[in-house]
Amino acid sequence: MAAALAALSCSSVLAQQGIDYSKLEIKTTDLGQGVYLLNWQGGDSLFLVGDDGVLLVDTSVAQMGAKIKAAIARVSPKPIRLVINTHAHADHFGANELMAQGGAVIVGHDKLRARMEKGQYLAAFNQTIPPSPPAALPTVTYADAMTIHFGGETVELIHVPRAHTDNDTLVRFKRANVIHASGTIGGNGGYPFFDMSSGGSLDGTIAAEEKMLSLSDEMTRIVPDEDAPASTADLRASRDALVTIKARVQKLIDEGKSEAEAIAAKPTRDLDARWAPRGGFLSGDVITRMAYQSIKGYVAPARQ
Ligand SMILES: [Zn+2]
Repeated sequence: MAAALAALSCSSVLAQQGIDYSKLEIKTTDLGQGVYLLNWQGGDSLFLVGDDGVLLVDTSVAQMGAKIKAAIARVSPKPIRLVINTHAHADHFGANELMAQGGAVIVGHDKLRARMEKGQYLAAFNQTIPPSPPAALPTVTYADAMTIHFGGETVELIHVPRAHTDNDTLVRFKRANVIHASGTIGGNGGYPFFDMSSGGSLDGTIAAEEKMLSLSDEMTRIVPDEDAPASTADLRASRDALVTIKARVQKLIDEGKSEAEAIAAKPTRDLDARWAPRGGFLSGDVITRMAYQSIKGYVAPARQ
């Protein structure tokens, strides 16, 4: 079960199997103004401590729910009142039910609720995410944007269409100057993953990064799926890399190259040292294939 769920997470973790969640430790980092980052291994969470309770962004996998609650309790004894799910990958909503049982109201994009309710098939990993039980579903959903005023902080929920998925929410903590990127920037400094079987796209990911840049100054912390927050300079560099990849793959398509020929041309060769240095899932070949398919308007196969 743990292995199956591990394979449902978002980025470089996707390729890993057999994660023993009982051994994973959560690292808590104070980002200032009452906002804290919880790092574990993909699907990282943020929380905000207000006067009357805690607002939590993303609930990881079910196995991590008790650890997340414990990590929050070490910072604040206040109850978790609100949960925001950034997108419907299984390492972002897995402990929703536990949080709802504790009294939290769950918030997410309209399409996130729909995908959780129906269940999903992730073609890139041949993985099925089963339908979520009603108690795990968001009870508050929105279409384009929503603002939550919580503990003196202004929390902006901004939908970016067809980015990492079709149901992403960027969560901006205005006072703390922190943005949760909902998987639209790569964890561990890598290329971002856009999940085309969940409605994600290259263009939408570029647009999401542009949106975050428009909301950032040089002090903004951008939270990816895993690892330390990225800087605005990192975000700008990621956007530039994606724009470069798009132009180069488009050129190969215009020249009539097949997908295999485009990959063989190694259009990301000079970028891989920075963006794919660790031999993880998102290699230069994989980002090239994803870009090719996204530009060509790839339609994900139906659930098997
Ligand atoms: Zn994801």
